[in-house]
Amino acid sequence: MNFIPVNEPLLNGNEKKYLSNCIETGWISSEGPYVKEFEEKFSERTGRKYGIAVCNGTAALEAAVIAAGIKKDDEVILPSFTIISCVSSVIRAGAVPVLVDSEEDSWNMNVNQIRKKITKKTKAIMIVHIYGLPADIDPVLKLAEEFNLKIIEDAAELIGQTYKGKPCGSFGDVSTFSFYPNKHITTGEGGMIVTDDPEIADRCRSLRNLCFKPEKRFVHDELGFNFRMTNLQAALGLAQFERLDEFILRKRRIGKLYNEHLRNFPFFDIPMEKSESAENIYWVYGILLNEKSKMNAETAMKLLNKKNIGTRPFFYPMHLQPVLKKLRLFENEKYPVSEKLAEFGFYIPSGLALTDEQILASAEALKSLF
Ligand SMILES: *Cc1c(COP(=O)(O)O)cnc(C)c1O
Repeated sequence: MNFIPVNEPLLNGNEKKYLSNCIETGWISSEGPYVKEFEEKFSERTGRKYGIAVCNGTAALEAAVIAAGIKKDDEVILPSFTIISCVSSVIRAGAVPVLVDSEEDSWNMNVNQIRKKITKKTKAIMIVHIYGLPADIDPVLKLAEEFNLKIIEDAAELIGQTYKGKPCGSFGDVSTFSFYPNKHITTGEGGMIVTDDPEIADRCRSLRNLCFKPEKRFVHDELGFNFRMTNLQAALGLAQFERLDEFILRKRRIGKLYNEHLRNFPFFDIPMEKSESAENIYWVYGILLNEKSKMNAETAMKLLNKKNIGTRPFFYPMHLQPVLKKLRLFENEKYPVSEKLAEFGFYIPSGLALTDEQILASAEALKSLF
């Protein structure tokens, strides 16, 4: 069996056609017409008034945090178990990240721990959805109302997912997405900010484009970024977007096939099939080894690699990150669930191009380790 990569995107729709159109018309920069069309279609799908396409999901977070009004010394509460982009966007805004642990079963942020982390300096909560099921949003919205906090929703991993029937990316003040090739739809590199707030939308558009003043170009009141998405990326995005429902069905089918083959196996946990708020969308198919396996994720991943199965480790908790320790953040803090997820969790091939045969081969290879 050839090596089965952990992710491979599907690019066999209108991608070529729309990209050719960019080249034929000469519209390759961010000024091209596909960017607006992609913003409109994507924001409509998430139930938001405004969409601002950017060059990646990390940039989306950086602009969203600033546009939400987060400033120096403000505190922002977010999970320890996430990608560094969440914390770095808070730090780059001059603010202080404050962590909560994860839930044992859903691997999402434990929203019950938020209240005791709220101080006079708390300005926002960053909800991050992890791996396939949405975080529990309702209690967070209630806290935000009670304490007058902003909500930033990082929905990078849940394009097309819903929470109690409402689209992920429709909650709070501003939401962000990534279109990296392992996300449900891809633009190669890319991201999107969506919001209903016209001021946040304007601010994000300005921040994305170096804060050029509309009335006086090359005069700046604020330092911005070049976070623009190109027409080429938006061409890919539109072609991918046309197939989002199909892709979600395929992801759920991948999850279901794995579940059938891996359920009730005594050595590891598999993702929850559903929660009270949603059915799993299986952005990635995670495996969490237990004591009976007598193995950690690193060992299991090495053994699977020898069997030609690609894997990736779970996130590494923010409170253990060397770069953040150097900043003297999170000193002596402990988030045991996130530490367990990092030590014993990894994911197996879950990309859209995966065949049923490859899914079965991956599942069999995993079982054969024990
Ligand atoms: C992928 C991802 C990002 C970052 O996206 P990039 O496009 O790679 O910068 C941010 N947050 C979460 C939760 C992600 O999974």
